[in-house]
Amino acid sequence: MTHTDVTRSATANFKCPNCGGNALFDPSINELRCPFCETVIPIERTTLNNIELDYTEALLAANTAWSDDLRVFHCNNCGAETILQGQNVADFCSFCGSSHIEKTDDNAGIRPSLVIPFHIARTQAEAMFKEWISKRYLAPSKLKTSHTLDRLTGIYIPYWTYDTQTSSHYTVKIGTHYYVPETYTTTDANGNTTTHTRMVQHTRWHTENGYHEEFFDDVLIHATNKNTDHLLRKIEPFKLHDLVDYQDAYLSGFIAERYAVPIEAGWRRARDEVDAGISASIEGKTRGDIVIVQHVDTAYDAITYKHILLPIWLSSFQFNGKIYPFIVNGQSGKVAGDAPTSWVKVSLLVLLGIAVIAMLYLYFSNQ
Ligand SMILES: [Zn+2]
Ligand SMILES: [Zn+2]
Repeated sequence: MTHTDVTRSATANFKCPNCGGNALFDPSINELRCPFCETVIPIERTTLNNIELDYTEALLAANTAWSDDLRVFHCNNCGAETILQGQNVADFCSFCGSSHIEKTDDNAGIRPSLVIPFHIARTQAEAMFKEWISKRYLAPSKLKTSHTLDRLTGIYIPYWTYDTQTSSHYTVKIGTHYYVPETYTTTDANGNTTTHTRMVQHTRWHTENGYHEEFFDDVLIHATNKNTDHLLRKIEPFKLHDLVDYQDAYLSGFIAERYAVPIEAGWRRARDEVDAGISASIEGKTRGDIVIVQHVDTAYDAITYKHILLPIWLSSFQFNGKIYPFIVNGQSGKVAGDAPTSWVKVSLLVLLGIAVIAMLYLYFSNQ
């Protein structure tokens, strides 16, 4: 394997008309730009693909290759599969840094129909990371000055979105409170007995059957490898109205992750979210003091999907010999990452918390 830098190696894909160099997608101008002579090559932006595709047809056509010009690399360490253009070669896994990575003969899978192109350039992403790390107040004080930042890689993360029209027959158990007066007696220190009345709450239960229809639009399911899972949630949301038709030009200088969650498994996750939504709706529209959704039988019709790519900058920093991953939303610049914690600072904070509670307790107990 040659030691070619992924983002600088030449491909024949997007040749500069002026000098023949390889033009790369430039987030700051939202066009291709030649890094050698600065020639700008405009990308014609369309949104014709912003339509829902039929899910059952996708299952039949699941082996349709994305493009012959893409290579899929498999990481033997973390299992991530990355998609590179043309003759680009990956030496390291962008997700775990391992060099145990090899080219496969797999095709890139279902071609994405839409993409949010990178809006945040590498230098901006680095600046946003620096600001983020300066605000890790519970981190050791040395972190700000003595961490080493690894190179940022721009990666398109695969997502599925699903729509479906649902109709559900359901059974709910409804509890209605009612109050019954109850008498009781107390005896004081002198042996005098008094009779009092109080209202006691009881609950009457009955079962109801009902029918509920609801349409779910763009249930977003990420299809990525697991190790960025917890961080991806934290950099949401992405503004999906900025989706444009996918073109290979947006990949120039970037890589894409091959979806690790197939379209069927993605639909099962989406269905779980849809089911939770249906239960919440049924609970919300049923009158009663207590509503327990007992049974829901749902038909999912008109299931459609979109396969989309969303941009993130992925990297890590090192501190005291440990590696901490972080990601930057390539559209909004929002940062999420793991950071070391200073036990001295945390302990002080806990002690401070205990002191405040103790003071409040003393204050109110003396009132
Ligand atoms: Zn050029
Ligand atoms: Zn890996």
